[in-house]
Amino acid sequence: MKKVVIVGAGVAGLGAGIYARISGLESVIVEKNSFVGGNLTGWERDGHAIDNCMHWLTGTHPKTELFKIWNQVGMLGERVTLCRPESFADFEHNGQRISLYRDPNKTLTKMLSISPEDARESRRFIAAVKAFGRMQSDVSRAPACLPFYLRYRSMSLGDLASRFKHNLLRRMITDLFSPELSALSLLFAYGAFCIGNADLPYGGSKAAAERMRDRYLQLGGELITDVEVEQILLRNKRAVGVRLSDETLIACDAVICACDPFVTFGRLLPDRYMPKKLRRARADVIGTPLFSAIHAAFSCDESSELPKHSTVIDCRTLDLDGRRISHLVVKPYTKSLLPQPNGRAVLQVLIFLEDRESVRWIELSRNKEAYRAAKARFGRAIEQRVLSRYPSLKSSIKLLDVWTPASYVRYFGSSNGAFMGFAMKAGHALRYRLTPRIHGLKNVRLATQWQAIPGGLPQAVLQARRAVKTLPAPGSIKIIKITPVVSEA
Ligand SMILES: Cc1cc2nc3c(=O)[nH]c(=O)nc-3n(C[C@H](O)[C@H](O)[C@H](O)COP(=O)(O)OP(=O)(O)OC[C@H]3O[C@@H](n4cnc5c(N)ncnc54)[C@H](O)[C@@H]3O)c2cc1C
Repeated sequence: MKKVVIVGAGVAGLGAGIYARISGLESVIVEKNSFVGGNLTGWERDGHAIDNCMHWLTGTHPKTELFKIWNQVGMLGERVTLCRPESFADFEHNGQRISLYRDPNKTLTKMLSISPEDARESRRFIAAVKAFGRMQSDVSRAPACLPFYLRYRSMSLGDLASRFKHNLLRRMITDLFSPELSALSLLFAYGAFCIGNADLPYGGSKAAAERMRDRYLQLGGELITDVEVEQILLRNKRAVGVRLSDETLIACDAVICACDPFVTFGRLLPDRYMPKKLRRARADVIGTPLFSAIHAAFSCDESSELPKHSTVIDCRTLDLDGRRISHLVVKPYTKSLLPQPNGRAVLQVLIFLEDRESVRWIELSRNKEAYRAAKARFGRAIEQRVLSRYPSLKSSIKLLDVWTPASYVRYFGSSNGAFMGFAMKAGHALRYRLTPRIHGLKNVRLATQWQAIPGGLPQAVLQARRAVKTLPAPGSIKIIKITPVVSEA
């Protein structure tokens, strides 16, 4: 049996390990952390569960190819309950409220009642949402999406919002994601939600990652944690093994790099192997920028006042490194999604950061005290704003944690803390594609969300499957012995 080493136990790495085992390959995943999942993770603070990742999982509709894949890799399964919220997100502004309901007709009715003036644009928006939704469960409906695709592909969410006259509708378009992102990002995601293709597995991100790990181990895969791959050892245009940070060498017949590609090129492999497309995309800070986020998590009593879904609320202006923020996205994590201590809930707030803002947090993190103080200030500022919207939480709210782009760099080696690959900007999204093959290397493959735009969990697992499929056929894998070879579990 031929042996493949996989760098990283994120979704792409675990997915690659599972498909390698299904293909009959011997597989060793090496993960630098003590836990699996990469960005698909969560942790405990004071007995409360914090979730780092999934806001929705594309591929929860049984008629989609992704649904089969998620079942194959253990993300979903018979014993996994899906949480199906009533709305994708709720929006409040100046005392008015609207939701992106499960039923897009209900959303349209609300849009029309709030702003009859925007009837034409609202109808177009909802028609596009329905078309993008239907296409996901029935690919034969894809041609019906073409007119909508052509209309919206070069529009940003900001452009789309500017077509609406009513402020609440504008904010519904821009405030959940970011105005610079492609309008297609919201149309596609909300369309997926409407048909039940963007729900959430109960237990959240950490439990999902652990189910993938368990599937991999059940299939006989080997997992080594708490140690980094430092270098891929090359001979005659082939990988012959990897060197780990504890100096262990593992010989192998192929390597799949399932970590951030800017760790792969320049560190694990000489920089000259970096695909030109990837280098160009990284340099194009306007067309394919990076983004990250800063988060705060609070514990509070589970009260009727808590929002039920991700909710965009107005807030007193927050000055974040010179950027003025006037709304927050607040997401509740109650026992309907994650186990929490009795009577308690967790409220999380996430603010997207542009690349230059992420870099500032990363630089600041080099000074531990200043970083800690800045995180505490951020936590307090968010707490005040959450309380002014939900005053009844005053007696029970407690800051649990603040994490920043520096956390993503520290734990996952993410480029500037970016956790979704390149941002999906209008007009750029579908032009960028990266194959798993690396020019000049016969048996090294890439499996990462960075191979298409947008990234995200589906991309990570799809690329993992592709990477395994494109490995040289077992018969043609040439085994080259290296010494010494010490493989430690
Ligand atoms: C706040 C947030 C919200 C998100 N929301 C969603 C969502 O709602 N839906 C969605 O689809 N996606 C979402 N994502 C994105 C999703 O988490 C990522 O797309 C996905 O997890 C990427 O998986 P990956 O395996 O490609 O990479 P990663 O998660 O980066 O995994 C790479 C792994 O490689 C390891 N590694 C790195 N270098 C080395 C080395 N040298 N040796 C050994 N191991 C190494 C890392 O520790 C890590 O475990 C979200 C992410 C975040 C952070």
